[in-house]
Amino acid sequence: MKKDDIIELKIEDLSSEGLGVGHSGGIAFFVKDTVIGDTVEARVMKMKKTYGYARAMRILEPSPDRIVPPCPVARQCGGCQIQAMSYSAQLHFKQNKVCSNLERIGGFTNLPMEPVIGMDTPFRYRNKAQFPVGRARDGKIVAGFYAGRTHSIIACRDCLLGAEVNEKILQTVLNHMEKYRIEPYDEATGKGLIRHIMTRVGFATGQIMVCIVINGKKLPAHEQLVRALVELPGMTSITLNINREKTNVIMGRKQVLLWGQEYIEDTIGDVRFRISPLSFYQVNPRQTEKLYGKALEYAGLTGEETVWDLYCGIGTISLFLARKAKRVCGVEIVPEAIRDARQNARLNGIDNAEFFVGKAEEVLPEKYQKENISADVIVVDPPRKGCEQSVLETMIRMAPKRIVYVSCDSATLARDLKYLCANGYELKRVCPVDMFGNSVHVETVVGLQRKDT
Ligand code: SAH
Repeated sequence: MKKDDIIELKIEDLSSEGLGVGHSGGIAFFVKDTVIGDTVEARVMKMKKTYGYARAMRILEPSPDRIVPPCPVARQCGGCQIQAMSYSAQLHFKQNKVCSNLERIGGFTNLPMEPVIGMDTPFRYRNKAQFPVGRARDGKIVAGFYAGRTHSIIACRDCLLGAEVNEKILQTVLNHMEKYRIEPYDEATGKGLIRHIMTRVGFATGQIMVCIVINGKKLPAHEQLVRALVELPGMTSITLNINREKTNVIMGRKQVLLWGQEYIEDTIGDVRFRISPLSFYQVNPRQTEKLYGKALEYAGLTGEETVWDLYCGIGTISLFLARKAKRVCGVEIVPEAIRDARQNARLNGIDNAEFFVGKAEEVLPEKYQKENISADVIVVDPPRKGCEQSVLETMIRMAPKRIVYVSCDSATLARDLKYLCANGYELKRVCPVDMFGNSVHVETVVGLQRKDT
């Protein structure tokens, strides 16, 4: 097989990046913009030793799960890798992905799987959006997104994953730019003023934040822009973010308040969060609540437990669990996140939560050795690479009755579970949760129990 050969492929699976996978002549080919179940005619684009890449030229037989993506720019964008797949098929794919990783990598059989928790609709679920601003080829000022793997901006004022109000916000800012002849930032030259428009909406509170990222100190006629934006019901915070670096990092460090307050508030369960432009907050709060609901269920709290929450971020899980536990201790590497966690605890009158800054793999072993800390339940929610070995080892030594593992990567989850289950724990329950509909990502929450309890 060589470049430019035409082959027929039946798409059997999706890669972790969302590329369709089919076999021809015993070789696996990765094909963009295909759905599991499609039969396609494809052109070989690139051959590697054991696999290749091909481009779908024609769909010979569409998958029964293939739908017309509701977003007109779904293909160019690349943010939604699987929008052309029906939502029920997406959920089925995610359930299978978790299952097969746990079997293949973790070596588990007879998995205690619960059905994936899907969304009511896989659109309008993101509470945060960041639109780059620039000039299109025809010279018009546009806001939208970067075309896959490039930095050319495709105009799109209404991402279907985000809030409807975004379109009005973008229209208002672009009108203001036209009226006062304000230049968009040009990445190539480093000139121009407006770089990005960031928005956040508190789904539970209806509060709206607009933050305009500029390459300068001031926004011309900002009072006029504020006047137009505050017409939108729910507007709560309008700020500038100063970013004068020649970088593709979106936000700078400095905020300037133009109107209202610097933050908005939102709730997950009955915990209230204060969200500043620079702070982290879950982007899909409705599904987050369901995910944490499962974590709480698996933690089996009676009010008497000491809980350690590793990789706690701004303390979302810790605070969610605190009212049902005797004491919660969170560990997180980012100092600003811990500051937010402490502030959120105060805001909610929660006084049985404590937070520690540092690497989980250093803080936990050290505290265990020096202070002999103990836990009835340990919750972990690590980044994609999973837990460090020393975290797993210390957990085994601390021997909590239950471990709740929240994971955004079922491959590293499977690896870590294999170790925990070889060292005294039993897999009790597994539940995938769809936090990012139309993308290939899936969260999983797992409940483990110590065998001798
Ligand atoms: N549980 C939180 C955040 C989970 S995301 C929530 O639901 O909001 C994973 C978190 O782990 C991030 O906040 C990241 O900053 C943190 N992190 C990454 N590496 C870490 C490490 N080695 N030790 C502790 N925290 C770490």
